[in-house]
Amino acid sequence: METLSTTPHPGPLAPGSQTFDRLTLEKFSLGIGDRFGREGVAQLSALQTAARAGCAIVPVWNKSNREHKLIGTTPAAVRTAAEAAVRTAGWTGAFHVDADHIGLETVGPFLEPCDFFTIDVADFIGKEPGLEDRETVRRSLSRVVGRSLPGLGASITEAKMEAFLSDYAAAVREAGRIHRKIEQARVAGRFIAEVSTDEAQTAQSPEELLLLLAALAGEDVRVQTIAPKFTGRFNKGVDYVGDVGVFAGEFETHVRMLPVAIGEFGLPENLKLSVHSGSDKFSLYRPIREILTRHGAGLHLKTAGTTWLEEVIGLALSGGRGLEVAKQIALEALDHREELSAPYATVLDIRAGELPSPSTISAWDSETFARAVTHQPADPLFNASFRQLLHVSFKLAAAMGPAFLDALDAARGRVETCVTENLLERHIRPLFL
Ligand SMILES: [Zn+2]
Repeated sequence: METLSTTPHPGPLAPGSQTFDRLTLEKFSLGIGDRFGREGVAQLSALQTAARAGCAIVPVWNKSNREHKLIGTTPAAVRTAAEAAVRTAGWTGAFHVDADHIGLETVGPFLEPCDFFTIDVADFIGKEPGLEDRETVRRSLSRVVGRSLPGLGASITEAKMEAFLSDYAAAVREAGRIHRKIEQARVAGRFIAEVSTDEAQTAQSPEELLLLLAALAGEDVRVQTIAPKFTGRFNKGVDYVGDVGVFAGEFETHVRMLPVAIGEFGLPENLKLSVHSGSDKFSLYRPIREILTRHGAGLHLKTAGTTWLEEVIGLALSGGRGLEVAKQIALEALDHREELSAPYATVLDIRAGELPSPSTISAWDSETFARAVTHQPADPLFNASFRQLLHVSFKLAAAMGPAFLDALDAARGRVETCVTENLLERHIRPLFL
């Protein structure tokens, strides 16, 4: 455990200055973790292979407040599971624990166990700000308005700033309030701040991203990674839906904005982009990799949700009781489709007509079940709707309690192989190796 109480408060710092004890997020990091806290070692195994191949990727355990609520787990348990996995695997590098998608109301239980905070202000975007909030953010932006900054086609006009204030001033002020609350508990500089707007209704333009970063700097939010909403759909556990060329253009423009924001606003020098629902976006990995290489840029990519699916696949492949448990979860998921999907509406595209019938599922053997779920888009048995439904069905496994966890233990070897291979072969290799 960290001994935070013995760390002196670094005190106010000049913009851009660093002290030895500032917690800094490394260049490449992956959001990992799993719903039931059992797959840490298998995920670290993938990162250890990457490290041996010369690519340092730092694991960040993440589990959102939403997921904790759905299955009744606590943020402290994530820290415990992460530390145990690090010890067992002999992981010697850095690791972090992310309070994923927290707000002012929900951050409390995350303050002690987490050292990484994903400050989610998407709900405040588009909310008309109060006069004082508007004026405060306006002052932060005065240094950018009317200037032609590198990377932007045209200078930022008064009109653009006013539109930005209407859409974002409330969100920026809220991010400041959350950040200050974390600072009180964690000591300034001893945590990593991410700001996420990925669950906003519309994608941010390059101007909006730059104004957002300027405004966050004005709130003294030491943002090290920012998760914009990109064009296209980032559905859970399946490939990107949208125009890959448009995404690539947008991603590269955002990457170009970051050095401008660092230089102009004194934000941390390691500021990088974060891609949420980043797992399984196979068609984006090549352009992302090319853009990162071209600009020497870093990346944080969240993949935690995909690991639970590998547990289901491993159970199915183990046959016998494991296959029965996988089928039981799938059959219940069909019954509760709407309730399970509701919290994730913006990141799912389940077509009811494409789902297998209960009798079809009951008749499946191990291989057929596994192929329906395994993300091999070219496999004719792969079913993207079924995979997305299972992605949000972990609550059903939680409700099964020991029956699920015992089956998982019995299929341990098989499950771990699935978890490691998925992370290494389908994610880390195309992105980083
Ligand atoms: Zn997110």
